[in-house]
Amino acid sequence: MSAAPPPSFRIPPLVDLARRDLAVVWHPCTQMHDHETLPMLPIARAEGAWLEAADGRRWLDAVSSWWTNVLGHRHPRIVAALKDQLDRLDHVMLAGMTHAPAVALAEALVRVAPAGLTRVFYADNGSSAVEVALKMSFHCWRNRGRPMRTKFIALEGGYHGETLGALSVTDVALYRSTYAPLLFEPILAPSPDAYRREPGCTPAEHAQRRLADMRALLARHAHETCAVIVEPLVQCAGGMRMHDPAWLTGLRTLCDEHEVHLIADEIAVGFGRTGTLFACEQGGISPDFLCVSKGLTGGTLPLSAVLTGDAVYDAFYAQHAAGKAFLHSHSFTGNALACRAALETLAVLEDEPVLERNRGLAAHLATRIAPLASHAHVADVRQTGLIAAIELVADKTTRAPFAPTDRRGLRVYRHGLERGVILRPLGDVVYFMPPYCVGTDEIDLMVDVAIEGIALATR
Ligand SMILES: *Cc1c(COP(=O)(O)O)cnc(C)c1O
Repeated sequence: MSAAPPPSFRIPPLVDLARRDLAVVWHPCTQMHDHETLPMLPIARAEGAWLEAADGRRWLDAVSSWWTNVLGHRHPRIVAALKDQLDRLDHVMLAGMTHAPAVALAEALVRVAPAGLTRVFYADNGSSAVEVALKMSFHCWRNRGRPMRTKFIALEGGYHGETLGALSVTDVALYRSTYAPLLFEPILAPSPDAYRREPGCTPAEHAQRRLADMRALLARHAHETCAVIVEPLVQCAGGMRMHDPAWLTGLRTLCDEHEVHLIADEIAVGFGRTGTLFACEQGGISPDFLCVSKGLTGGTLPLSAVLTGDAVYDAFYAQHAAGKAFLHSHSFTGNALACRAALETLAVLEDEPVLERNRGLAAHLATRIAPLASHAHVADVRQTGLIAAIELVADKTTRAPFAPTDRRGLRVYRHGLERGVILRPLGDVVYFMPPYCVGTDEIDLMVDVAIEGIALATR
């Protein structure tokens, strides 16, 4: 008989959670002082698109728990797969050993990914996948006798995570500027972001102009550049900025012409979010490296993967050659539970008409947000698949932003909490990124609440 656990190891009573939290937990992406007046939501349960507190309060998870929860919380098939996996194998190191979920998932990823991606390297979160892709690209050129290639081209407004390497290729001041002295400097290319196009210029023309900039950058820097890293179709954390798919097509051609790798960071946009399983498909391209995480496990467990092709893999394959092998390891690389959850997520995406249903939901969302375009403080309403964003500005004609200290987005967030919808604007960009299990009534609710919040916040 085991004794009762000491009080500090017991799960606390849910009613007391928010107070005890503030005494010990340091939250991500948060000025803790803000929570002197705004209690943390004590989440006790989740199901489908909904989060619930112990006292019965409910919130619609309109941002898919930081974009991870693509199929809805506690999807029955993923829950069953995880219970089964727990009875077989929890975790084992992936050096010198393998297991069925790691192999089956790699096979499945290779089958569904863009052509030519034949090898899967596992890591355990999005930022570490980006670190892997950066190191692998650099090391590949080094193994091929081109060690002078040490630089990366990244986009203005891009986001690739917050570990030091991933943060180096990130261009979002909020996350980057404080740590700039610790980071390496990428070569920054102007973004194809259609919001930034000059008046009278179409998104397609804008994409061609930005390709011209990229051509010039590559002409000057290709000899010292390992790779160009991009978020295909939507620069998410940078404010849900979207671009024409033709830009991806042109970028692939330019990278080939200059023999530079293309890294597609689909950590946020992968697994059906943009209307296709991978965003790269819409540009008709295959990258040299594809980074996936977030939706990979259906939002249940941390896992990431970097897919690459035979050409890269072969550059590392050698007998008795010091320094040739790719040495990058995380303790939880290829965790069996996480791989099993991911495998089931892919099975659901394959067995059920998820992408087809998403197209219907996206069309409904588009009709619901369209009227916001005429709002006096809305400069742009944009959408790619099941990502929609509303750009709030002080002046609609000049697109001058509100003063950051106004924190208009925060007011929308607070209104959402009161009305039972989790909207977590990025600055003054209010966006929707719901789990694919939502119904049109839930889309109506989140849009109605956002419209109310925007009215209050821009008064
Ligand atoms: C979230 C995100 C990352 C980082 O993933 P983490 O798991 O948070 O480290 C990298 N790239 C993109 C595009 C992301 O949206």
